[in-house]
Amino acid sequence: MERTLAIIKPDAVERRLVGQILARIEAAGFTIRAMRLQHLTKQEAEGFYAVHRERPFFPSLTAFMSSGPCVLVALEAPDAIRTWRALMGATDPARADAGTLRKEFGSSIERNATHGSDAPETAAFELRYFFRGMEIF
Ligand code: GDP
Repeated sequence: MERTLAIIKPDAVERRLVGQILARIEAAGFTIRAMRLQHLTKQEAEGFYAVHRERPFFPSLTAFMSSGPCVLVALEAPDAIRTWRALMGATDPARADAGTLRKEFGSSIERNATHGSDAPETAAFELRYFFRGMEIF
């Protein structure tokens, strides 16, 4: 079994897509181990995306991620990291495969509806960033 961090980003929460996205997560066989609605501060978003701090889109990305509440979810499944990224699709919704969440629900390369950890080390960092041990069931 493997765990990964999923985020339903502020654009998707604002558009009332939380239920549909969670339904797709459960239908794909993931077990939800932790979940919370949270409005990140700018500083919390900057800490989460610290690896991107030199990228030109960092100020805009962190402003977007702190613009409204998001849903933080710890997912568990065999091969969870890769399977969740496949369900999300490519970063840019315009390039994402048909049937993926970003294709269906994303509106731009930045406002792309969902986040998923990209490797075991980042999953461990991201899960720890948002959830204490006692909050993961
Ligand atoms: P991910 O792993 O597919 O989420 O992609 P990255 O780690 O490369 O980027 C993190 C997040 O930054 C993406 O999910 C987008 O929200 C945003 N992002 C990535 N590339 C761009 C870009 O070129 N422009 C803008 N404005 N945002 C971007």
